[in-house]
Amino acid sequence: MSNILHKIQEELIPFDASLVAVSKTKPNKAIMDLYDQGQRIFGENKAQELQRKYEALPKDIEWHMIGHMQTNKVKYIAPFISLIHSVDSTKLLETINKEAAKNARKIAVLLQVKIANEDTKYGLDINEAKEIIDAYNRETLPNISVHGLMGMASFTDNMEQVEKEFNYLKKCYEELLPNVSKDAVNFTELSMGMSGDYPLALSCGSTMVRIGSKLFGARNY
Ligand SMILES: *Cc1c(COP(=O)(O)O)cnc(C)c1O
Repeated sequence: MSNILHKIQEELIPFDASLVAVSKTKPNKAIMDLYDQGQRIFGENKAQELQRKYEALPKDIEWHMIGHMQTNKVKYIAPFISLIHSVDSTKLLETINKEAAKNARKIAVLLQVKIANEDTKYGLDINEAKEIIDAYNRETLPNISVHGLMGMASFTDNMEQVEKEFNYLKKCYEELLPNVSKDAVNFTELSMGMSGDYPLALSCGSTMVRIGSKLFGARNY
């Protein structure tokens, strides 16, 4: 396993990109194995599983939420979450703002843009993302910091299709950036790329890749 982690970390260096090790469904022991080799950012897609792992594991782990969230689950992760990649509605963002305030902290988020050519993927369209950024600029969300965009490409072997989708997310980022008047200096992240497509995502401008099965082996649900 160590070889895989270090190989991926080396591939990221020229792009100055960070690695989110996606540990969903994996036991604490597997997480500790990567932790002991220096990995500190882990991603999960279920709030309660994330909370359990947070409680059991070292406190210098940066936990990222990467999955679709129901608003009633935000409270489980609000006290400690480092980054929520998957904001796909105004209602969710308002809930995160409220729960962050309760915990006297600011929560960093990414807006998830729908880039896939599939009905099943969550995400905002570019106009909805613009509306959220307008609200953000008006300081109605003081406990939120918007750090960029996240996207999930179609589940397909057609790399030309995937490349089109990554390029589209990059274009959305460039189009939205001038709209961010509040805190624009933090609007820097483009979270895209998974085990099967991260080299392509990096070449399309990804700053953060989310890799699960390549690091941990296949998941059994
Ligand atoms: C599971 C998951 C990943 C990682 O997928 P792999 O193909 O195992 O690397 C990345 N992003 C999201 C949003 C996921 O749910």
